[in-house]
Amino acid sequence: MTQTTTTVRDGGRDQDFLAPAARLRGAGIGGLEELTDLQRSERLARMRDGELGSIHSWELVTAVDGPGTRMTVFLNGCPLRCQYCHNPDTFLMKDGEPVEAEELLRRMRRYRGVFRASKGGITLSGGEVLMQPAFAGRLLAGAKKMGIHTCIDTSGFLGANASDEMLDNIDLVLLDVKSGDEETYKKVTGRSLAPTITFGDRLAAKGIEIWARFVLVPDLTDDPENVHNVARIIERWGSVSRVEVLPFHQMGTDKWDALGLTYQLRDTRPPEPELVESTRAIFRSYGFEVH
Ligand code: SF4
Repeated sequence: MTQTTTTVRDGGRDQDFLAPAARLRGAGIGGLEELTDLQRSERLARMRDGELGSIHSWELVTAVDGPGTRMTVFLNGCPLRCQYCHNPDTFLMKDGEPVEAEELLRRMRRYRGVFRASKGGITLSGGEVLMQPAFAGRLLAGAKKMGIHTCIDTSGFLGANASDEMLDNIDLVLLDVKSGDEETYKKVTGRSLAPTITFGDRLAAKGIEIWARFVLVPDLTDDPENVHNVARIIERWGSVSRVEVLPFHQMGTDKWDALGLTYQLRDTRPPEPELVESTRAIFRSYGFEVH
């Protein structure tokens, strides 16, 4: 499908990428008030303060994105470009819908009973949640104040954006360790592994619970030596309570196509069950609870 494209002008690395003039919509922001009529300058000022965020969608899920039933909010904007990303429509912050933190907090309040009954909570995902630290910080602080369990799902690449105050309001971090050596990490994500290690070290030092996640992609991340390297990195973090091996799937392909972006894993197949099991076995051999 051919699409008209426009260059993105705001914000760091995103300038390097082309965004489609008409983008795909995901699950949506159903039930949330969208503030599309705000002046651009006012919108940017409120985003800086964290009153306003750019989000792709939200959903209620059970047994994914953390324990229990969770309200997962997908924030827009990500500095990585993972070859296997199944949410490429969250790459750019400007493609999200502007939504007020207060609006989301009201929605979280409404689900407090569900969270309590299921031992669930909220998860901020993306995109990359730490692209919008002020907004995320406000949501986490607000949720914590209501006694809700809080979680972020992050690559850790922007871990330096997380203040100590923000970390104090986080109960669990789903930390994606996308590869165990710099070279493979760069190939997979276009970025560097070191900030993830630094962030994991910081979380561990603060005793914040981590679920480490690893996406298993045949011929990209599946080399046993790479898996051992991931395990050795995770091993140094004493607060890791589980490791999740996530088998690659092709569910994002249509989005890449519709966005006019080149999808490099078109011919890659999901890993065979034997490969998934042998990879999990490597993590188990380091003493981890593996899912
Ligand atoms: S970090 Fe997540 S959202 Fe960003 S490119 Fe990678 S898989 Fe996609």
